[in-house]
Amino acid sequence: MGTRLTELSVRRDVRAWVTAHWDPSMSLRSWRELLVDAGWAVPSWPERWYGKGMPAWADDVVSREIRRGGAVSSIPSGLAGPTILEQGPDHTRERFLRPLLTGAEVWCQLFSEPSAGSDLAGLTATAVLDGDEWVVNGQKVWNTSAHHADLGMLVARTDWDVPKHQGITYFVLPMRQPGVEVRPLRQMNDHASFNEVFLTDARIPKDWVVGEVNQGWTAALATLAHERRWRALVSLRVEGIDPGRARDEALAEALEAAKVYSWYPQRAGRADLVVDHARAAGRTADPVVRQEISRLLCMQRASEWTAERAQAARKLGRPPGAEGSIGKLALSNVARQAADVHSLIAGAGGLLAGVDPAAPLGGVLAEILISVPAQSIAGGTDEIQHNVLGERVLGLPREPDPTRGMPYRDARNR
Ligand SMILES: Cc1cc2nc3c(=O)[nH]c(=O)nc-3n(C[C@H](O)[C@H](O)[C@H](O)COP(=O)(O)OP(=O)(O)OC[C@H]3O[C@@H](n4cnc5c(N)ncnc54)[C@H](O)[C@@H]3O)c2cc1C
Repeated sequence: MGTRLTELSVRRDVRAWVTAHWDPSMSLRSWRELLVDAGWAVPSWPERWYGKGMPAWADDVVSREIRRGGAVSSIPSGLAGPTILEQGPDHTRERFLRPLLTGAEVWCQLFSEPSAGSDLAGLTATAVLDGDEWVVNGQKVWNTSAHHADLGMLVARTDWDVPKHQGITYFVLPMRQPGVEVRPLRQMNDHASFNEVFLTDARIPKDWVVGEVNQGWTAALATLAHERRWRALVSLRVEGIDPGRARDEALAEALEAAKVYSWYPQRAGRADLVVDHARAAGRTADPVVRQEISRLLCMQRASEWTAERAQAARKLGRPPGAEGSIGKLALSNVARQAADVHSLIAGAGGLLAGVDPAAPLGGVLAEILISVPAQSIAGGTDEIQHNVLGERVLGLPREPDPTRGMPYRDARNR
């Protein structure tokens, strides 16, 4: 790009492109293919990989401008996109990035196992090379969206005779095959966002490996770093988008995705509802309620500023750092405080479920109270974030591990 990029110049360029190419009667897939091929889906990606080599700030600017032009913006590149872009190799970038950006292939994350969550490197699902294919056996759990995914980001053990972090490989698993059985899990908030995934002689083409064989821990860390700053954003807003086939298909897609994520706002505690809740319950004059509301709003504001600081650092092209762990902990603290304040206002009646006409906030409160604990677990628990900060930011000694350096086969048998 010869001329200096400014927000104004980027907006002008993308708007001109949208004006020339947007046709609301085209299919959503065709529109996304145009966006991807023109480099506007993720403009911060390199030109060779469907981007325009622009700074990171351009992604938001472009996405907003496309909507302002009355068009449907691109889908988020999720966790698989940036991981494959960073880790490669080229043939995986060639095979997977474009269909991910056009929405032709939906992904899920197959990391956690029944006895390997926080200690993810302790995983035991095993892949063995058999001719031109890897054969995988094991079990994964808590896998969001696995029930409608085409591909899974899978970490599996490929060498048991080296220390546990060294014998792991990061694969792309084709989900629609006989060796993959997906069983939905019903949660206590009555949603079913997660699944158990059973792998029995599941097959993976030999070269569907992200990064290198036995070096999958590095790629997994890249995914986890993105996860700590990623939000599952599902926009159901279509105001301002020109009516037509592309808009209808985008709305249908968002509604389907929202089934999985509809309780995520409740999981965050719904701090936005506390003042109205206190007013409706006639508790705004109670000094304890007032104090706890202001404590919550201060925490929430500080958390937003931390997120903005992290976003500003990303826009300057800095890699994800400690602010991912700090931000994630802040979200957990805000969610817990919000649930406490809602409970303080509602009392025991807060437990009434939505079917009861007396349920506070039409039953949303009950959903908040049973969804908030998930905030401190997903993407790494609070305790793990404390460990990360203690070791990597404060320089405290590492957690003792008597099996460190041992071949994993021996470490498991100790
Ligand atoms: C909403 C949600 C979505 C999820 N989506 C996915 C997904 O799509 N794909 C996927 O693979 N997984 C997913 N998970 C799983 C998630 O990554 C794990 O639940 C998480 O890593 C914790 O692992 P665990 O449940 O096995 O708990 P454990 O690791 O067994 O932890 C149990 C308790 O022990 C504590 N603990 C463990 N180790 C330490 C330590 N070293 N120091 C101090 N305390 C410790 C933990 O903090 C926790 O309180 C999801 C989870 C949630 C809640």
